[in-house]
Amino acid sequence: MYTENNKFDVIIVGGGAGGLAAAVCCAKKANKSKGLRIAVLEKEPKPCKKLLATGNGKCNLTNMNMSEKYYNTSAQSFIKPLLSKYTPQKLIKFWESRGLFCVPDEYGRVYPNSGQAISVADTLLINLKKYNTELFCNTEVKKITKVKGGFAVGCTDKEYFCKKLIISAGGFVQPNLGSNGSGYSFAKDLNLSCTPLFPSLAPVLCKDKLLSVVKGVRCNAVVKCIADGKVIHTEKGELQFNEKNISGICIFQLSRHINEFFSLGSVLGRPCRKIQINADLLPDIAYEEIFSALTLRRRLYPDSDAAEIFCGLLNKKLSRYLCLKLNINEKLSAGDLSDDDLSAFASLSKECTFIPCAPSLKENAQVTAGGVSLAEINKNMECKKYKGLYIIGETLDIDGLCGGYNLHWAFISGIIAGHNAAAGDSLK
Ligand SMILES: Cc1cc2nc3c(=O)[nH]c(=O)nc-3n(C[C@H](O)[C@H](O)[C@H](O)COP(=O)(O)OP(=O)(O)OC[C@H]3O[C@@H](n4cnc5c(N)ncnc54)[C@H](O)[C@@H]3O)c2cc1C
Repeated sequence: MYTENNKFDVIIVGGGAGGLAAAVCCAKKANKSKGLRIAVLEKEPKPCKKLLATGNGKCNLTNMNMSEKYYNTSAQSFIKPLLSKYTPQKLIKFWESRGLFCVPDEYGRVYPNSGQAISVADTLLINLKKYNTELFCNTEVKKITKVKGGFAVGCTDKEYFCKKLIISAGGFVQPNLGSNGSGYSFAKDLNLSCTPLFPSLAPVLCKDKLLSVVKGVRCNAVVKCIADGKVIHTEKGELQFNEKNISGICIFQLSRHINEFFSLGSVLGRPCRKIQINADLLPDIAYEEIFSALTLRRRLYPDSDAAEIFCGLLNKKLSRYLCLKLNINEKLSAGDLSDDDLSAFASLSKECTFIPCAPSLKENAQVTAGGVSLAEINKNMECKKYKGLYIIGETLDIDGLCGGYNLHWAFISGIIAGHNAAAGDSLK
């Protein structure tokens, strides 16, 4: 039996970005009209652990360049009207009307004016308090069951009842920040279908022993993901070399394809047998210019080391890396290099291939690709099979590119679910 203590009108599972936005909207609406009892259950000792880590602690909360093309989902038509209705401008208004001022950078990425993710978390928490929403931390939900008139929410040492339930348990990446995939287990227990899960926005592991030579180096590059010989995605940005992987935002943006390849044997939903990343390490200089610069250097400094042929063009370690990749003896002098050698150097700097060797580690990824199928919910984020059950944020089969798209989705899906959960007749 439930006592008055553990009976709620609305329970939100997960005190992260989406869950707290949902709670704030639900509580505000409910406070005005009905005075509902609302609770957030959070497994960690404090809410918003992941939110605080976003944008390197600065929280890139939306992007002025918004379009469904920046999202991956099996149902693109589902998010298009939602993004048109809940624009970045509208989300900024949501924050600014609560005292959190936002500022876009030159790329349209929007951050709190304070430059601190904690301002976003504090704004949500102060609003929870204002509307008397109860927040239970160290409270991990283990089981969700449909019961008469609502849902039973089983935690380690207690069971709660609620008339309406919002599942906002995040994804399965970076479990150290709270979410460990429990949202998908709840969905499966309730017979809701899930699309396959894999990590996205992550470093790409590569089979390349020479990476140790170049680890720690960063350079501007144009990177291309090539599936079965076809370029499927191009990005420009800072490429970072690490001991076992390549990373940087431009690589994060391509990583979804690599991880889909390793997890499902497909890329963009089509079967694929071979995947690679090609990087142009001198994107602003044409091959011919590079070749003539190398020729000039050979003529001017014939006694210098072959591995230093790129001096002044590329990072020294990167120059050595290319030399080793081409199997050119490092002990040679620049004057010993043939035109063919210089041509091979120039070509490699314009098209350096990396072969991914394994899926990215979920511990290093920013978001989960796949999730609860969008066919299971309506535009209010409510389950078609269970009235009063809402699912939001990363738990759903939607993942965005880097740039504020994932938080935009978490917040707007939370806002939609929160409003609708407070509006229903069954709560009266
Ligand atoms: C390092 C890093 C940086 C990122 N930077 C950005 C960025 O700058 N911009 C951007 O748009 N996106 C960014 N992301 C992605 C973004 O943080 C997520 O997509 C977003 O937080 C998802 O929101 P959510 O509410 O769905 O899930 P979460 O924020 O993960 O919240 C889920 C909450 O549920 C709790 N929970 C899970 N299971 C249970 C359970 N069984 N019982 C009770 N509580 C539970 C978790 O502890 C967590 O607090 C970043 C991610 C990472 C890891």
